[in-house]
Parts: sequence; structure tokens; C-alpha cells
Amino acid sequence: MERAYANLFAGRTAPPRYRKKFLADSFRYPQGFKLDGRQVYLPMIGWVEFWESRPIEGTIKNVTVSRQGQHWYIACQVEVDLPAPVHPASAAVGIDLGIALFAAFSDGAVHPPLNAYRRVEKKKACLQRKLAGMVQYSQNWKKHQQRIAQLEIRIANCRRHFLHQLSTETSKNHAVIVLEDLQVRNLSRSARGTMAEPGRKVAQKAGLNKAILDQGWGTFRHMLEYKQARRGGEVIAVNPRYTSQTCPACGHVSQANRPHQALFSCEQCGYSYHADVVAAINILAVGHTERLNACSPH
Ligand SMILES: [Zn+2]
Repeated sequence: MERAYANLFAGRTAPPRYRKKFLADSFRYPQGFKLDGRQVYLPMIGWVEFWESRPIEGTIKNVTVSRQGQHWYIACQVEVDLPAPVHPASAAVGIDLGIALFAAFSDGAVHPPLNAYRRVEKKKACLQRKLAGMVQYSQNWKKHQQRIAQLEIRIANCRRHFLHQLSTETSKNHAVIVLEDLQVRNLSRSARGTMAEPGRKVAQKAGLNKAILDQGWGTFRHMLEYKQARRGGEVIAVNPRYTSQTCPACGHVSQANRPHQALFSCEQCGYSYHADVVAAINILAVGHTERLNACSPH
């Protein structure tokens, strides 16, 4: 509550809302639960069968029960002793995250975005229009609402799958991963402005915001961080300043180096390459210098 109001008065969020029934259904048992094969004993509820998606290792510390759509899930938090890992690879990579491309790697690999939400946006709008014409809380209305919820869950699953695949592959092959320290929240802030100072290009910014939030950069970074920690690798976040304007060949910095969105072309030495890959190369270079500075005794 304290945090919610602090965020509200600082102008970061909308006011907190009352808890709604059936929304974000979840509860946690810190004790009193028992596991036996494919069954779990939940206090007040009793023995419940479950389907095991993966073997449970270590000591179970607590059990969380949650609902997603029509399905209930249990998640066990476990404690395991892991030996300090040594990363199998020695390579380092810089990654530039963007909208036209989800990620460009300093080794030249590029990954187009999934745009999970954009793909089904129209379908969802259509379903929502239908819902609006129904009698509220009728059986049909409830059924239809479930259909919309299912669609949203599918979008989230697609997005998560995409991010998991890319982050696992990246983490496996690189001991050091350098990312730009993007403040996603700053980027996606509305352009609406205030009454006294109305913002400019509000609609364009809103479209861009939707694209930014659809990418899941924050989740991607979080996945990379914990996967690297597990493998003994490292994630470094660096300030992306000038990384899109600096020539990796001669070091010349100028806005004119980027004649258009996809192309980097140095006005001094003529070096030209894919703009996002150039940014990734520069990000890697910044990561290297920062690391050297951190390691040197001075
Ligand atoms: Zn140059």
C-alpha cells in the first residue's frame, strides 16, 4: 500500500484499485503442505493430484497455488546446493535491443521480433466487441470472457517461449554478455504531457509504446541474468550513449554516421554496416572498457 501510494504521488502509476475477485488468484503455503508422488496435501483443501512438469529437486521451502485461465498450477520453491559453476564458453557478445530487430549481436547475428501481441491484436479487438454486445454476467458472456483470457495467455506463452529460446542459446555460448542499460519504463512513458505543456506526437508515441512493451526486453535481461548466474557467466549493463553513432573502425562520433534507420555509414572513413550490429559492437567495446576499469587497481 505504502509503495503503491508513493508511486502514485510521484506520478509513476495510476491509483491502486480494490482487489477484485477472481483476478490474479494465488496463495502460498509456507508450511503444512505434504508431497507424495503425484499428490500434494494442501491444508484446508486436502489431497490434490497434479501433473508433474519437471522433477522436483532439493528441499521444498514453500508451495504456491495459482490460477491461469481455467487451470490451476502449483509451484514449489526449493533450496539446492550448487557447486560454483565455471562457464564452458569463453566468448563475449554485445547485444543491441531494438524494435525493427528484437536483438542484434556483435558477431553479426540478428533476431527479428516476435510481436506476439500485434499478431492477434485484431482478433482480440473483434472478440472484445462481441463481448460488449452481450448481457453482462450471462453464461455466454462468461464463456466469451474466458475465450479472451485464453487468447491473452497464449500471447504471453508465445512471448515467453521466444525469450527463453533466445536467452538460453545466448547464455550457453557466451561467458560475458553486454547489454545496454535500457530503462524500459522511461522509454515507454506516455507522451501525453500535462495540461500546461501538452506533449507532442502522442498517438505515434502510444504506438511505439505498445511495440516496446510487446518486446519483453526487461524479461529477456532478467532471463539472461539468472541463466548466466547458473552457468557461471556474467551480464554487464552499460550506458548506451553514442553507441549508435560511433564508428567501430575509426572512432568517429557523429549523428550523420547513421543516414537512415538500418544503415551505419561512417562519414570519415567510409566504413558501413548494419546499424544495429554496429551498435552491438560498440556496446561490447564499452563493456570491455568498463570491465578493465573495474579490474585495474587504480
Ligand atoms: Zn569511421
